[in-house]
Amino acid sequence: MAPRVNSIAASEWTGEGADVVIIGGGIIGCSTALFLAERGISTVLLEKAEIACEQSSRNWGWCRTQGRDVREIPLILESMRLWQQLDAQLGGKMGFKVCGTLNVFTNNHAVDGGHRWLEQARDYEVDCRMLSSAEVGRLVPGHQGKWREALYAPTDGRAEPSLATPAIAERAMQAGARIYTHTSVRGIELSGGRVSGVVLDHGRLACSQVVVAGGAWSSALLRPLGIRLPQLAVTESTLRTEAFDGGPDISIKGGGFSIRKRLDGGYTVGFGSTMMAEIVADSFRFLPDFLGLMREEWRSIRLRVGRRSAESFLSPRQFNRPQANKVLDPAPIRSDLAKAWRNLQTTFPGFRNARIAEQWAGMIDVTPDGVPVISRVDAVPGLMVSTGYSGHGFGLGPGAGRLTADLVANDNPIVDPHPFSISRFRCG
Ligand SMILES: Cc1cc2nc3c(=O)[nH]c(=O)nc-3n(C[C@H](O)[C@H](O)[C@H](O)COP(=O)(O)OP(=O)(O)OC[C@H]3O[C@@H](n4cnc5c(N)ncnc54)[C@H](O)[C@@H]3O)c2cc1C
Repeated sequence: MAPRVNSIAASEWTGEGADVVIIGGGIIGCSTALFLAERGISTVLLEKAEIACEQSSRNWGWCRTQGRDVREIPLILESMRLWQQLDAQLGGKMGFKVCGTLNVFTNNHAVDGGHRWLEQARDYEVDCRMLSSAEVGRLVPGHQGKWREALYAPTDGRAEPSLATPAIAERAMQAGARIYTHTSVRGIELSGGRVSGVVLDHGRLACSQVVVAGGAWSSALLRPLGIRLPQLAVTESTLRTEAFDGGPDISIKGGGFSIRKRLDGGYTVGFGSTMMAEIVADSFRFLPDFLGLMREEWRSIRLRVGRRSAESFLSPRQFNRPQANKVLDPAPIRSDLAKAWRNLQTTFPGFRNARIAEQWAGMIDVTPDGVPVISRVDAVPGLMVSTGYSGHGFGLGPGAGRLTADLVANDNPIVDPHPFSISRFRCG
């Protein structure tokens, strides 16, 4: 997990207000804090536990352009540029490396999907192309996969999730942002209909703008203000190996596994073929919004009734209430990881000598169209939302933080923000 950031402890709370308060210390909140502080805007970031304690340290570490919804392409291209720039400024502390990504296809339906995406992305100058099975064989010698074709992005990269967000947070503090950890925001305060502060467990903090970057908690944070943000969460499981020589340097997904080489010499391995969604009260609240996605993805979504289901219906206040040190830490789905591990060892027999060091899971927040919301809320002056990164917000992180800061500061946006507007959903 992520190393501790030398932030200000809740016990050293001064209660001093700020122009902007950011709720959430994931990659989005920390990047936003960095780009605001660099403009000299007084900024406080509040994180209920540790920096990057939820999705931002648990993810696979892919920074990819390929396969994205075309609405995200201009933003990911800016983000890739910022990854390089920031990592160089931080002396490599984010572990960013251009390594290429390969999405391999094992059936005709998937191959057609790859060609279709490439056709849609043609206008955006993405560095991606389809490879034949023979070309993939030359790129990844010795693989035993039954891969028909693959989508290849040679300039895509990877970074180290446990290091990247803490490094951005440290940089934001050097630029002047105040970051408090173990500090949970209970609610957003309005005066005369506009943002005037946030309410905490131990008092309040005055501000004129709030950025909601609370990952999977964002929808519940907005609800008391009458803002409807359709957002659900799915569980994704992951394992890492001990340091291991002989695996590929390029990140590969498809054929029943995903792998990414780590800075510590091991590999981060995922399954990527199914998502587990626990049925909670929000599943019914937002069912009409998510029907389209469920129809498209029904093969890969597994619904389950579990502990969170009961809690969300029986004690909804408690369920939705963020508390200091309350962290979403779902159990990994070991049967999925076992399948991924077997598939990986069949494809790359060398991995039979690798050892599993750790397994974990994270809860991914998703929107109905799989695209984030990076948007002012017109009904509430001073309220900004940057959330719903739908399983691919790590790669977007620096660019999304920059765009969020541009909108907060009323500066020229780095890319057109309209595709990310909250008004594309029924939000009132
Ligand atoms: C297993 C897994 C694999 C993934 N793989 C990839 C990948 O390879 N590439 C990629 O691009 N993306 C990937 N993702 C998605 C990516 O991790 C997320 O999209 C991204 O980290 C979202 O960042 P965030 O800052 O919005 O949310 P988070 O990282 O979840 O941060 C939100 C923060 O807000 C805090 N918070 C919430 N409410 C409050 C409150 N009221 N008060 C104070 N603090 C609060 C939380 O504690 C949390 O730290 C993956 C995700 C998972 C789980």
